[in-house]
Amino acid sequence: MRLPLLKDDPRARRFDARTEEALGASLRADGVSTLQVNLGKRCNQACRHCHVDAGPARTESMSDEAVERVKAILTEHRMPVLDLTGGAPELHPRFRELVRHGRALGLTVIVRHNLTVMFEPGLDDLPEFFAEHAVALFCSLPHYTEDGNDRQRGGGVFEASVRALQRLNAVGYGTGRADRPLTLVHNPLGAFLPGSQRDLERDFRDALGRQHGVTFDRLVTLANMPIARFAAWLEKGGQLDGYLDRLEQRFNPATVPGLMCRGTVSVSWDGRLYDCDFNQMLDLPVRGADSSLAGFSPDALRGRAVVTGAHCFGCTAGSGSSCGGALAG
Ligand code: SF4
Ligand code: SF4
Repeated sequence: MRLPLLKDDPRARRFDARTEEALGASLRADGVSTLQVNLGKRCNQACRHCHVDAGPARTESMSDEAVERVKAILTEHRMPVLDLTGGAPELHPRFRELVRHGRALGLTVIVRHNLTVMFEPGLDDLPEFFAEHAVALFCSLPHYTEDGNDRQRGGGVFEASVRALQRLNAVGYGTGRADRPLTLVHNPLGAFLPGSQRDLERDFRDALGRQHGVTFDRLVTLANMPIARFAAWLEKGGQLDGYLDRLEQRFNPATVPGLMCRGTVSVSWDGRLYDCDFNQMLDLPVRGADSSLAGFSPDALRGRAVVTGAHCFGCTAGSGSSCGGALAG
């Protein structure tokens, strides 16, 4: 597949110009308030929209040496948020150790949880583990209907996801408790932007509550990023250019101050540093600072120019999109 997202794509230059106009300066990182750690590409699912090409056959996994380095960085620098992702991060053998380490340091620990992984062998106590350590859960559930969800994630995934949510509710997640926060993550089913986050949250709340007795604390919407498996799917259907144009046309300057690359460093399973996990997938490591985990330095990373590309319009279109959902009302 051709790669339309490199620095020399004219859209990339237009993104730089428009963010500079919005900020009054070029796009730079303010610091490292969140360390996002990608533990590997193995996942029990193989979703159509997956931007990291994860799946059951993937074997990439963070090494023991890199895990030790992550722990040492957290101990030394104590950035407020540790964000664990994958693949399914729970499948990494040292996942629980990292959660315990982050919590012992008093950090907020976020886990990007796909719900169904708790039904894999040996993981059935995940709800109790999450609750014990007050992990903040971001759970992907593309849609509140079986058809809408399973078209993207595969047959049977919705039913298993609902069972998982019921188990999380049973230990207090999604019931308004500050130490059991459950956020659902919605992304659209095709080559269009998410609808209003507020309206979708209401629809999810009504449907999941009425039909399945499931509750959650909030819903965030993410745009599908035009990279990896989703980009290949767009390209196959002749929709890639149209989708990129649509993202650019919907550029919203109000989203720029909250772009997640301004406060996040994303660590890949093989120990390299990126401005975000989208850049990780495109093999665009940080510039202006050592991009290895071994050379991690918050001082050097602060103020670095963010590496941008045409895909960045996925973060600034409409209400915007980040790991925490929409960026503007
Ligand atoms: S989108 Fe999430 S759950 Fe689906 S394959 Fe990718 S990592 Fe796994
Ligand atoms: S894709 Fe990454 S680098 Fe580009 S705007 Fe989004 S968060 Fe920032």
